[in-house]
Amino acid sequence: MLHLEVNGVLPLACQRCLDGIRFELDVDSLLELIPEGNELSQDELEDDTRDFLPVAGELDVAELVEDEILLALPVAPRHEKCGLPGAADAGERINPFAALAGLKGKPN
Ligand SMILES: [Zn+2]
Repeated sequence: MLHLEVNGVLPLACQRCLDGIRFELDVDSLLELIPEGNELSQDELEDDTRDFLPVAGELDVAELVEDEILLALPVAPRHEKCGLPGAADAGERINPFAALAGLKGKPN
């Protein structure tokens, strides 16, 4: 068995507004090491409570940690509440023609 824990905060980009999101990473996996090529029984394949990790020769721990982190990341990180870029202040955006209207009728 291999117990893998990875904790930390990762800066991700929101897929909607492109602003930063602090993602709290919390990986806690218990992996059962099995020799690569070993057939798993049907019971083992259907058991969602167990994670099997086939290993051939030496285990590349850095690669394993990287894979586990990538699996834990959201596919499309988003803020719970946010709009498209610029959408938040669209209602208050100054109409460029409003400034021109203000100039109308003024003496040069
Ligand atoms: Zn956002």
